Amino acid sequence: MLHFDLFVIGFGKAGKTLAAKMASQGKKVGLAEQDPAMYGGTCINIGCIPTKTLIRAAEENQSFSQVMAEKNAVTGRLNKKNYAMLEGAGVTLFDAQVRFQSNKVLTLTAGDDQQEVTAEIIIINTGAISNQLPIPGLLESEHVYDSTGIQGLSELPQRLGVLGAGPIGLEFASLYNRLGSQVTILDAAETFLPRSEESLAQMAKGYLEEDGIQIHLGVQTQSITNTSDGKVSLDTNAGTFEFDALLYATGRKPNTQNLGLENTDIQLTDRGAIQVDAHCQTTVPQVFAVGDVNGGPQFTYISLDDFRIVYNYLEGDGSYTLDNRKHIPNAIFMQPTLAQVGLTEAQAQAANLPYKAKEMPVAGMPRGHVDGDLRGAFKAIVNTETKEILGASILSHNAQEIINLITMAMDNHIPYTYLAQQIFTHPTLAENLNDLFNL
Ligand SMILES: Cc1cc2nc3c(=O)[nH]c(=O)nc-3n(C[C@H](O)[C@H](O)[C@H](O)COP(=O)(O)OP(=O)(O)OC[C@H]3O[C@@H](n4cnc5c(N)ncnc54)[C@H](O)[C@@H]3O)c2cc1C
Repeated sequence: MLHFDLFVIGFGKAGKTLAAKMASQGKKVGLAEQDPAMYGGTCINIGCIPTKTLIRAAEENQSFSQVMAEKNAVTGRLNKKNYAMLEGAGVTLFDAQVRFQSNKVLTLTAGDDQQEVTAEIIIINTGAISNQLPIPGLLESEHVYDSTGIQGLSELPQRLGVLGAGPIGLEFASLYNRLGSQVTILDAAETFLPRSEESLAQMAKGYLEEDGIQIHLGVQTQSITNTSDGKVSLDTNAGTFEFDALLYATGRKPNTQNLGLENTDIQLTDRGAIQVDAHCQTTVPQVFAVGDVNGGPQFTYISLDDFRIVYNYLEGDGSYTLDNRKHIPNAIFMQPTLAQVGLTEAQAQAANLPYKAKEMPVAGMPRGHVDGDLRGAFKAIVNTETKEILGASILSHNAQEIINLITMAMDNHIPYTYLAQQIFTHPTLAENLNDLFNL
């Protein structure tokens, strides 16, 4: 039986970073990935990178086949680079699906071949899979795709339906609208982006609609079928909708299937994630679960932060934990991007905090005029007593960059009054933080 110091299941962000780091320190490290098309994990192959490449290429008015070709070139390159990086670091790589046989014994299956492996430390980094709502016909109907399938289309659908107005649904809606599809979004919730800053969410909805995207809220889909001419038909409480293709983007759930966890003492949470302590350690000592599979926020940078926590536990003093993780910003890459950190005004109000809020339109910002994109607004919420920033939401092009500045200020308890006086380069979107925090 092969024995390793550390063995990683799945080629995710946390696991690959830890594998490279430990191998470079002389540890005997193995990593197994079940699908060669996934070397480097979800982010590189079917997540952040292909989607943002598609969006950027579409913004340059490239054709459908050109944007797809460019996306395939970028993911192909990064897939190979990730494999080479781990190989170069001395990690033993396996093309195999992994299953626990017991707490510390793994079975690696590759076609008809099976082998057993043990390790002192095991890292579960198997990611998440698309949630499939129990709608009759969802899985049986043709031209119905999840976020991975929709990236493999060979023809642009004339009419695209998007089930789910979350970050993934909105990104693809914006993208396919830009590429020329007639896009319709259906969501069961009554409110658009219910957890976002209300005024900016409404503004974002308005921009999507101005761009020609139809948004129907409060829609319950009862069944999905194919018509005799091959269209996708949705029967809902708001009537029947017909599309050439349907994307379902109704969340992603921790990928624990086929891991054989029933053969171990590893516990799941009531939401189906692998239960971990503050060091990302499972209920079996020296077995860790990192990234989407442990039920934390589903972002590549959270998987990377899980790496920091586990590495700090294994090789440092264990002082950095899930409990003292700082603010987590996020970005929804629709047109324009909505990026957020901390509290919304409604949340500050509900928490009874002494706060002030300010909102400024991008139309009043010099950089907006230079870039020829006047859509959006910046909004900040500050604590009037402590002078700390409670939260911010930015709806604008490049919002995903600016939010990191505000996050840094919040993490380091920099008072908002400092940002009001900070010297910024000009003309930039960031310089408007002077005025935003002058409240
Ligand atoms: C369309 C889309 C867009 C996204 N956009 C963004 C974005 O802009 N920014 C952002 O931060 N996040 C984004 N995300 C989320 C982000 O991709 C994930 O949070 C992140 O990749 C999770 O990484 P991970 O470390 O959990 O593992 P993953 O990268 O998901 O890797 C898990 C790997 O494990 C393998 N595996 C599973 N089971 C086994 C097994 N039994 N044996 C062997 N191998 C196995 C899988 O094949 C997979 O390669 C997006 C996700 C999607 C789907």
